[in-house]
Amino acid sequence: MLRTHTCGELTLSHKNQSVTLTGWVQRSRDLGGMTFIDLRDRYGLTQLVFNMETDAALCLEARKLGREFVISASGVVSERSNKNPKMATGDIEITVQHFEILNESKTPPFTIEDNTDGGDELRMKYRYLDLRRSVVRDNLLLRHRMGIETRNYLNDQGFIEVETPVLIKSTPEGARDFVVPSRMNEGQFYALPQSPQTFKQLLMVSGFDKYFQIVKCFRDEDLRADRQPEFTQIDCEMSFITQEDILNTFEGLTKYLFKKVKEVDIQTFPRMSFADAMKYYGNDKPDIRFGMKFVELNELVKGHDFKVFDEAELVVGINAPGCAVYTRKQLDALTDFVKRPQHGAAGLVYVRYQEDGTLKSSVDKFYTEQELKRWAEAFDAKPGDLMLILAGTTAKAHKALSELRLEMGNQLGLRNPDVFAPLWVVDFPLLEWDEETARYYAMHHPFTSPKPEDIALLDSDPGKVRANAYDIVINGVEVGGGSIRIHNRDLQKKMFTLLGFTDEDAQAQFGFLMNAFEYGAPPHGGIAFGFDRMCSLFGGSDSIRDYIAFPKNNSGRDVMIDSPAPIKQEQLDELKLIVNLPKQL
Ligand code: ASP
Repeated sequence: MLRTHTCGELTLSHKNQSVTLTGWVQRSRDLGGMTFIDLRDRYGLTQLVFNMETDAALCLEARKLGREFVISASGVVSERSNKNPKMATGDIEITVQHFEILNESKTPPFTIEDNTDGGDELRMKYRYLDLRRSVVRDNLLLRHRMGIETRNYLNDQGFIEVETPVLIKSTPEGARDFVVPSRMNEGQFYALPQSPQTFKQLLMVSGFDKYFQIVKCFRDEDLRADRQPEFTQIDCEMSFITQEDILNTFEGLTKYLFKKVKEVDIQTFPRMSFADAMKYYGNDKPDIRFGMKFVELNELVKGHDFKVFDEAELVVGINAPGCAVYTRKQLDALTDFVKRPQHGAAGLVYVRYQEDGTLKSSVDKFYTEQELKRWAEAFDAKPGDLMLILAGTTAKAHKALSELRLEMGNQLGLRNPDVFAPLWVVDFPLLEWDEETARYYAMHHPFTSPKPEDIALLDSDPGKVRANAYDIVINGVEVGGGSIRIHNRDLQKKMFTLLGFTDEDAQAQFGFLMNAFEYGAPPHGGIAFGFDRMCSLFGGSDSIRDYIAFPKNNSGRDVMIDSPAPIKQEQLDELKLIVNLPKQL
């Protein structure tokens, strides 16, 4: 190699050794008789020093080096007089005797340091430069470790990694597909997989037993902040198992990753039914790092001429410990918070349980102190606490109160990013009714098995049927989900019928799977983890983009390679595609 060491490894134990380093000039400083250069590579930074007195010619040459020049520098490891305890190599510097420019660099469009002056778009456009920054680089190193440790664990458990195709067939369920025109089959299209779901099930029919794949998936959804049209899953499937086996196996994976990658011991891994998650936290991905559970108040509050409560389907609240001291202004801010359009509440009722034991509320006109006392008991509130109450339809009250709970968790510092609280949410409903299209949709996907004890309800009350489906949630983030699958042709067919497929449609779309079920399909089930999301959670960031080497921006564009882009007329002709080009193209 062109170097003897990396820029991250030299310490006092190498003192007086002759070494050669290679890397990028991060920064240079001229201090009278001395010139200092920080040389950077993937492994770290090392200080190079040039001395005007001992070698003026070399020092003058070094002063000409621009930022991001690629150089090789040879010299002797010396002890620094001014040590930097924050740097791994902070005890030493290289007294350079000779250097060579391996390549020059234009001045980069932003500073390549931990705190950069580059804005988001600029850094995305020059992502290869942004990736030189240690913070971004470390994110990819974390991702690499997560991938390796995932493979180690699953390999040890007897899983084998199988690649499934990327050019598959468009199906109407789920999100929108990305499609690829086929040149050799005029007028026909492949689709990119939203997940390898049907293929991994077919691998179970083939007898592979335990499959996994760290795999790219594609969904053409409207982009919300922090969604990527292509993303990576840890995709898994197992045969001859129960739901319990799957939960145990992947609880194991999660604990293993926390231990290996973060040195965190996960102590408890509770399970909560979907129904309880909704009742106590108002959503199916509760952040259980803190309590503040929902308390339902319908029975206590109705019939006191307070119309808002009387007309509501649900009156529900949380108790914020120690918040009775909140000022009017703070309470108004909370009211504004729940009334934001995305949270959707009409207003907020509060009850202060004051330190002296008296109760003061925003609805004193309708309720006596005695009645408020009963509410306080229901909340298990103590003097000094603040009760916050919302009313409305169940869905709306759940939504707004769950946002308010998280906000109060933030305000009270209860959502510590160094604490990790995973749980399983289980017993999801099989189906979800959609008012607009007046039909049922599969809550997870159409291959999910109903709970055997609920199968009879499929005919009488499909909305009540619970599924053998589960999500893994960590700190309020859904990081994975899966289910036990249907492995019986007739039940699968029935499921498609419930989802509004005609027999012909079901056969055309999923005939291959139902046919496979006639050749000895074993009972099976699986799960997929959002790998990008897991990495960002482990890295302590909200943004999955930071953990993807070359991500797309919020409009789904890669601004570095400038994609998507029009294609040439010849390409379109070859594909027999007629495209109405917008004017500006
Ligand atoms: N294929 C499912 C998904 O992508 C996960 C699973 O059921 O295994 O969400």
